Amino acid sequence: SPTDTIGARPADSAITVPVALGARAYDIHIGPALLERAGTLVAPLLDRPVTAIVTDETVADLHLARLERALDEAGIATTAIVVPAGEASKSFATLETLCDRLLDAGIERRDRIVALGGGVIGDLTGFAAAILRRGVDFIQIPTTLLAQVDSSVGGKTGINSSRGKNLIGAFHQPVLVLADLDLLDTLPAREFRAGYAEVAKYGLLGDRAFFEWLETDRAALFAGDKAARRHAVEVSCRMKAEIVEEDEREAGRRALLNLGHTFGHALEAATGYGNRLIHGEAVALGTAQAFRYSQRLGLCPPGTAERVRDHLAAAGLPTTLGEVPGELPDAAALLEIMRQDKKASRGRLTLVLARDIGEAFTTADVDEQDLATFLDEEAT
Ligand code: NAD
Ligand code: MG
Repeated sequence: SPTDTIGARPADSAITVPVALGARAYDIHIGPALLERAGTLVAPLLDRPVTAIVTDETVADLHLARLERALDEAGIATTAIVVPAGEASKSFATLETLCDRLLDAGIERRDRIVALGGGVIGDLTGFAAAILRRGVDFIQIPTTLLAQVDSSVGGKTGINSSRGKNLIGAFHQPVLVLADLDLLDTLPAREFRAGYAEVAKYGLLGDRAFFEWLETDRAALFAGDKAARRHAVEVSCRMKAEIVEEDEREAGRRALLNLGHTFGHALEAATGYGNRLIHGEAVALGTAQAFRYSQRLGLCPPGTAERVRDHLAAAGLPTTLGEVPGELPDAAALLEIMRQDKKASRGRLTLVLARDIGEAFTTADVDEQDLATFLDEEAT
């Protein structure tokens, strides 16, 4: 059982999850105090002892000095580039400034740069790396739970367009991921909960035993238990790695990772991608909806949707539209946003639905009339 696996390892050790992508293969190290060990872990990957660290203002205040010291102790010269915290930094304007500053720092084609931050920094830095001098390699040091279990792994990088989120980007895999669990200690509770929505998603989409472990051990995870946190990040990364290995560019199976995201993205778009509903909250609500819709279609056993909702709600995540502050658009408008989702293909809406906990599947066979009725019912 997953619990036995935890007991088998000393609580303070790091573990490694390999991502087997041939020429683009890399390791994810998960454990405490990895920032302090970054010099030893990063030095062998560098062509010369020079790098740039890209981070945001919040993370810089909390964690940058320790990373600089660790790299300095390994003889690596660093330039820190600090951008404002928040989604607005995933913009053409910030990308341009960042590229100029990387060039000013003397970053060459064979150098490797470091992204220290949440998904915003990882996506922005990864995309800058993908295009700087036609491509430099980069290292991810994810500092949010969401980034450790999701955005730092798999090679999707990018920025937002005025036309929508994540519409400009590139597939560019990192060469190393260091998921230092200690960094999560400074994360605001709301951000931790939001990342947890993605952790639960992995269990719900493909690993029932993991979901059952979460039902038992969620409280320990939230309380800061290091072995529980390492296990949750490990299982999440293993599943993401396995899916990405099979379908790096989302031709098929990778779409399963969008469980809760088609409903969720519509709500994020409707609420302006802001503080009203952050991504992980939208995913939790969208996941609850995906299970309710699956159950309504008779796809999953009675009680499944309630069990999923209870779990997410107990973690402090929203699971019903009534919990979203302010007005929401009506069902027709939400459906229209879902149709425009970038995952849509040939104008057809694709949904991730479930036959049970741990048994998600994708379908383009959606009765939009019926879906509209469901969304109407959800609003009441
Ligand atoms: P984020 O990077 O904005 O971080 C959230 C907030 O937490 C920020 O204010 C940040 O400054 C702060 N923060 C980060 N680390 C901290 C720490 N250790 N202590 C205290 N504060 C800390 O947001 P996020 O939730 O990490 O990522 C969201 C972004 O990730 C979105 O832009 C989304 O599109 C993207 N994303 C990408 C992928 C992918 O596959 N590339 C997957 C999922 C999400
Ligand atoms: Mg997500």
